[in-house]
Amino acid sequence: MADDCLFCAIASGAIPADVVLDDDDVIAFRDIAPQAPVHLLIIPKHHHRNICAVVAADHALAGRLMRTATDLAIELGVSESGFRIVVNTGPDGGQSVDHAHLHLLGQRQLRWPPG
Ligand code: 5GP
Ligand code: ZN
Repeated sequence: MADDCLFCAIASGAIPADVVLDDDDVIAFRDIAPQAPVHLLIIPKHHHRNICAVVAADHALAGRLMRTATDLAIELGVSESGFRIVVNTGPDGGQSVDHAHLHLLGQRQLRWPPG
């Protein structure tokens, strides 16, 4: 757990969140400012600053994050209507929380290109 990391605090339960999945390595919870009716954040419990750090340290964990996102898309009923998995990374990528996370967005028409 990294000091002063919001998502480490959520993963440990120190800060509450609307958790939809919690297993040994991964936790998924609803985004506090949803950009779509389905907007989940899927994070590793262990602190990694971004997706590059996850892949470098443990590529199986990167796979588990993606597997969790797609399982949740199926479970929440958006796998056929469509969804988007987003991994904002670094300043140009718009990453605002420096603990690796996937966004799962769905249940509305998403536009392209993103802003
Ligand atoms: P990023 O901009 O780093 O890709 O995504 C960070 C996300 O975390 C944002 O969509 C933001 O709304 C969400 N977020 C920020 N603070 C909190 C919080 O305290 N709880 C939850 N559930 N989501 C948060
Ligand atoms: Zn963290």
